[in-house]
Amino acid sequence: MNKKFFKVITAGAIAGAACFSIAGCAGTGAAGTDSKATTAATQSTTASVTPAEDNDTLYQVALLQSLTQGYYDGIITVGELKKYGDTGIGTFEGVNGEMIVSDGVVYQALSDGTINKPADDEKIPFSNVTFFEEDGQVKLSNIGSMQELQETLNETVNATGKNMFYMVKIKGNFSHLKVRSEYKQEKPYRMLDEALAADQVELDLNDVNGTMIGLYCPDYMQGLNSVGWHFHFITEDLTKGGHVLEVQIKDAVASYDVTDGFKMCLSDNTDFQKMDLSKNVDEAIKRAETATKE
Ligand SMILES: [Zn+2]
Repeated sequence: MNKKFFKVITAGAIAGAACFSIAGCAGTGAAGTDSKATTAATQSTTASVTPAEDNDTLYQVALLQSLTQGYYDGIITVGELKKYGDTGIGTFEGVNGEMIVSDGVVYQALSDGTINKPADDEKIPFSNVTFFEEDGQVKLSNIGSMQELQETLNETVNATGKNMFYMVKIKGNFSHLKVRSEYKQEKPYRMLDEALAADQVELDLNDVNGTMIGLYCPDYMQGLNSVGWHFHFITEDLTKGGHVLEVQIKDAVASYDVTDGFKMCLSDNTDFQKMDLSKNVDEAIKRAETATKE
């Protein structure tokens, strides 16, 4: 986030203008063309900050709650997603592997432990991306667990503002990681936690260099995503990766991007529109994000 932009938007927010918007995207591939976003920009910013706004928006495809309930059909394509961000996480149609977006390239960590670079027409049912602009760094040494990592990063979040979004890129040497991917699901789709309980594949990585991409969502995102941190990893040689279940860091630097805009796109598909997205699936999300095989 650009600091100057942050000040202007904060002033706008106090005056009652909001950057939060929901954008339709199915089949259009057009960012920021919805009237709500245009209105919000006009009300909350001056012309001089307009270019920065696009880079300070966290873009979300659907809801983690729709994915968790088994809506695995693609909503936008890889090619379209890249118009909304160069850094992020997500998954692919049929939950066919874990997505890592780094430096504008979309990677797919497959169930066999390999990394694929999907074609631009590959579809995506859920993802979060942003255009990464570094706002600061945190040095990480001898981090012994996921909890310790989150506590360390939360010191920055709490000092900077816990009600904004954070994308982090953690580059360095990892003494241990347990990552997972999963086999592609076939219809009829199961709940995500049930699919993972059956088809999750785990990989232990020791003493590897690589990049963890992490997203922090504020408390009020419960209902649209998961609250707190969510990390995916890819090795420096781009050969292995997945959703991070366990981590120990020897020495790394976390670069973070503070983001105060949020935009999400939904599907107009009938099956999506029939879903009860008010249903509380918090426990299923927790199992899907953290459970390891016994
Ligand atoms: Zn994940």
